[in-house]
Amino acid sequence: MTGTVNEVFPDSVETTASLSAAASEIPTVWHVNSTARGGGVAELLVATMGAHRRNRVPARWLATEADPEFFALTKRLHHRLHGSVDSFGRLGAADSSRYERTTESQARHVLQYVEPGDICVLHDPQTLGMAPHLIDAGIPTAWRCHIGTTTSSSSLDEAWLFLQPYLRQSMPCAFSVPSYIPPDMAAMSTMIIPPAIDPHSAKNQFLGTGDIDRILADIGLYDGFVASGLAAVQQIEHLPRNAQVVLQVSRWDPLKDMRGVLDAFALSASRGHEAHLVLAGPDPQDIPDDPEGAEIYHAVRTAWEELPVELRRRCHLVTLSLKNSVANARIVNALQRRATVVVQKSLQEGFGLTVTEAMWKAKPIVASRVGGIRSQIRSGVEGLLIDPADIDECAEAIAVLLADDTVARSLGRAARRRCRDEFVVDKEFARYTELYDVLSGQYVGSR
Ligand code: UDP
Repeated sequence: MTGTVNEVFPDSVETTASLSAAASEIPTVWHVNSTARGGGVAELLVATMGAHRRNRVPARWLATEADPEFFALTKRLHHRLHGSVDSFGRLGAADSSRYERTTESQARHVLQYVEPGDICVLHDPQTLGMAPHLIDAGIPTAWRCHIGTTTSSSSLDEAWLFLQPYLRQSMPCAFSVPSYIPPDMAAMSTMIIPPAIDPHSAKNQFLGTGDIDRILADIGLYDGFVASGLAAVQQIEHLPRNAQVVLQVSRWDPLKDMRGVLDAFALSASRGHEAHLVLAGPDPQDIPDDPEGAEIYHAVRTAWEELPVELRRRCHLVTLSLKNSVANARIVNALQRRATVVVQKSLQEGFGLTVTEAMWKAKPIVASRVGGIRSQIRSGVEGLLIDPADIDECAEAIAVLLADDTVARSLGRAARRRCRDEFVVDKEFARYTELYDVLSGQYVGSR
């Protein structure tokens, strides 16, 4: 395999095939990313497809496939766009030619789906290499970049130098926050589209206590386990139904710092609370474009095994199958609603969807003062921001929110208000129509 694409049909969204004849006269918008499941972009695209559907704009989703070597390379680009380095040295000519070969092949597959007059939105660095091929074939194409950092570094410069050949001057580009736009692109057509959640989705819709209890028992976190095959839980005792819960939900990625959450939780527990910790992430085998997952999960599990038994008893590692996306979403929803405090201790974060999801659920949040999280949460207003390098500060913030219900509730309420005002998918849809307007010279959403 060099590079192919497959159409994605999210379980929860009706296909555009059933749109009326009038709607079918509108050009189709093709969103292209690198995975159908796992991670924020796949999550966003499910919500995006639903919003287009509700607004009667035909939109379809293609996910690319490629060799593991290609995804290892794009993961290196991903880390560099977050400003972090790896141990493999600089990106070289062989990397560029692998990237070009694969994305050129993927573009040929995309062109088998796209009709003249349709438009394309490519997501993240994994797909950007297709842009020149699509534009040369006459397809108006935009790029949406979900990652970035505000701190300049040589690794960031290296990533932009690598991607430069694929950024056409005429191509509109969308970023999550203004400070992610690189200076070289200041003259290009750029816009801001903050990622958003769908309040009606299985991930975010209301769940009552009975639903939450059932879901958590079905995955084995509570007693009364009915083997559902939807998750595996590493624990020495079940989670008590009345325990306070500290939660982080993330991919098993070094930048999410699940290990650091374990350390901060251990430190906060030494100060006297009785809460339990749940670290939940996808089954690493279910995310082909994230080759580091298994290694990071095992490192966290080893750290868990080394905890004193009294603490280990209060820590639960959950891996979730992504094979059934609606079931996965309901489990994440239940975990987030069950949490007393939600943590997102990322070392870097383009824009944390898990943070937005917790905001919607009015949870008190402890999150890192990095990247897009700073545009989601004002510290002391919608949550508490901490320095991710400072375990002590994180432990203290967790302990404060576990102990002070009044502060916790007021932060949670403000978080929900901000989410409703700024980070829901209908707001995102409106911004997309501006992007399509630039792309096709017509206001697709108004037809
Ligand atoms: N997620 C999930 N199951 C998991 C772990 C994460 O459904 O086991 C979802 C999570 O709820 C969120 C997305 O994946 O919607 C992660 O997005 P985020 O922006 O937080 O991080 P990313 O993975 O894109 O870096």
